[in-house]
Amino acid sequence: MTVAAGHGKKAARHIDAWLQGTTHALAPKHAPATLERINPWYYSDAPYTVRPQLDLARRTSSFDEVQGGLTEDNALFEARRCLSCGNCFECDNCYGVCPDNAVIKLGLGKGFEFNLDYCKGCGVCVAECPCGAIDMVAEDV
Ligand code: SF4
Ligand code: SF4
Repeated sequence: MTVAAGHGKKAARHIDAWLQGTTHALAPKHAPATLERINPWYYSDAPYTVRPQLDLARRTSSFDEVQGGLTEDNALFEARRCLSCGNCFECDNCYGVCPDNAVIKLGLGKGFEFNLDYCKGCGVCVAECPCGAIDMVAEDV
């Protein structure tokens, strides 16, 4: 499912760029967001929504759907289970926890930048990112 969604996103960006007469440059791949890199306790534990099923007796006497769907509210709730592994979803944690104001918000949908002149490399932002979206990279000296 996630591979299909990712391919759909990639295709949409290429089509959009083609329609605008440009080309879409692929972003460099980031490191896999393994379990050690994500903080699952930031996400709530919640039982999954049980979808309604048609009674057995009615299945033999009608053409109604056997497996019911989710309500809009339930579908939105279920979608929020996404751990956004390795992809920043702008929770502002890194921005809030950085003791040196080294994290700069670029605006909604535009992500963040790090001011490396202010960053002392404490790693708090990496430790508190829920989805493992930040990499600490050793400085070339
Ligand atoms: S490593 Fe520390 S100082 Fe640097 S951006 Fe992250 S929290 Fe801020
Ligand atoms: S990099 Fe991580 S901690 Fe920072 S805003 Fe994105 S998801 Fe939140």
